[in-house]
Amino acid sequence: MTEKILLHINGQDVPSSDGAVFSVKNPATGEEPYAVSHATPDDVDAAIQSGQRAFEDGRWRDVPARERARVLNRAAALLTERIDELARLETVQIGRTLREMRAQLRRLPEWLEYFGAVAQTAEDTGPNFGAEHLNVVRRVPIGVIGLITPWNHPLLITMKKLSAALAAGNSVVIKPSELGPVVPVLLAKLLEEAGVPAGVVNVIPGLGRTTGKALSEHPGLAKLDFTGGTETGRVIAANAGHSLIPVTAELGGKAPVLVFEDVDINRAAAGALFAAFIATGQTCVQGARILVDRRIYGDFVEALTKRVSALRLGDPLDLQTQMGPMVSEAQREKTADAVNRARAQGATVLSGGRAPEGQQYERGWFYEPTLVADVGPLQDLWYEEVFGPVTLVVPFDNEADAIQQANDSPFGLAASVWTQEIGRAIRVSKALQCGIVWINDHHRIDPASPWGGFKDSGLGSENGLDAYNACTKKQSLIINTSDSHFDWFASVEDLRYS
Ligand code: NAD
Repeated sequence: MTEKILLHINGQDVPSSDGAVFSVKNPATGEEPYAVSHATPDDVDAAIQSGQRAFEDGRWRDVPARERARVLNRAAALLTERIDELARLETVQIGRTLREMRAQLRRLPEWLEYFGAVAQTAEDTGPNFGAEHLNVVRRVPIGVIGLITPWNHPLLITMKKLSAALAAGNSVVIKPSELGPVVPVLLAKLLEEAGVPAGVVNVIPGLGRTTGKALSEHPGLAKLDFTGGTETGRVIAANAGHSLIPVTAELGGKAPVLVFEDVDINRAAAGALFAAFIATGQTCVQGARILVDRRIYGDFVEALTKRVSALRLGDPLDLQTQMGPMVSEAQREKTADAVNRARAQGATVLSGGRAPEGQQYERGWFYEPTLVADVGPLQDLWYEEVFGPVTLVVPFDNEADAIQQANDSPFGLAASVWTQEIGRAIRVSKALQCGIVWINDHHRIDPASPWGGFKDSGLGSENGLDAYNACTKKQSLIINTSDSHFDWFASVEDLRYS
């Protein structure tokens, strides 16, 4: 049975103004469980106006920070109660395993709690302004923030952006990915149930080239917060730039995993496996280039190949499954094309490299976890973001070579360094040109810890105090404390101020 999902504007579930819908497919079965209203440019405008009205009449902006935090904590509690239900919905929409979605969603209440705490503890500052004035610098909310999100972590990415925006007192208009729009609509209703006033959170599902474009071009936004591909990011930032709307952008990556010769090989292979194949490899920080000291290369590749070929691919709702399907047919084709091109350019496929055979895989967009060797900077696979279950493994000769190879990328989102030698771990991390470096770990995230990319991987960052501050602007109050009479134009003979 197909369930209808409507737009959520001004606290109401409404169909799109032209009645158009699009379907969301279950990537594991090809079924179409949801028919989702497709927001038109008029709907985008209505959502922004709803957010503006809510902002201007102060129904959320003027709620004291302590009370806003209480509401966000109530939302965190409601979310905690509904995690299993929402995790299942995420799996049906995007095909990630239920085991992964449960683990991810269990963390999400922390974002509401963290940013609620930040709002409560945020303090005005008082710069030195000389003897006769007092300067108070306030941080004030900015208005309606547009959130354009991808499909690979539909709720996590929405939650990161939304928690900071709401804690600071803003309204939001969310344009979720067309591949994962269902849970963000439910989230808006959950927030209202917790006490966020109607009109503050608006959700307008739709395609990127229509709905997303209309949102990114709308002059009524105070800020646009985007996560998605680098090329989409360039288009969106240019659109917003025409109206001088600031943009935060979390974009693509091709994260290196640097494995030094002193590691425990099995532990490092388990880490590389986790880095590369969680979410069927569809994460921005996927360990997509595994660089290994030549002295242990053979043993490491043997251990990793064994682990890759043993991954259990299958029904993502089955808790025994370790890797689900890819999100869409297009994404699978893109992956197969990247692997086939790599083969044609001289790469060796050590494991996977094809769609699996068998009845259980026939209706879904499955692709085997794939490990590729003999890839270098002359091949496309070295630079391009595949966004699928494909990683490459190459040797390095020494520390300098490892750093050079790791930095040889247009992207600069994340990296991981695997070694027991503390000095080397820190030395190498400092030399890496990327926003996040894990040492002996990968994928870890916390609401308090900045998340953002260097180079073509982004602008600004999510999480932490900077993300909260980016949802505010400074207002400087300059107060005259002197009791002397000041009259600049009283007399031209009085030259005290010349
Ligand atoms: P995408 O760029 O195709 O789409 C992202 C969002 O932008 C979607 O909501 C889409 O509808 C919208 N969009 C597409 N074209 C648009 C346009 N012309 N105008 C306005 N909106 C438009 O990306 P995706 O396939 O959903 O996600 C995968 C990408 O996201 C990968 O490149 C990945 O690295 C990146 N990503 C980055 C991070 C990070 O934190 N840096 C996290 C997750 C995903």
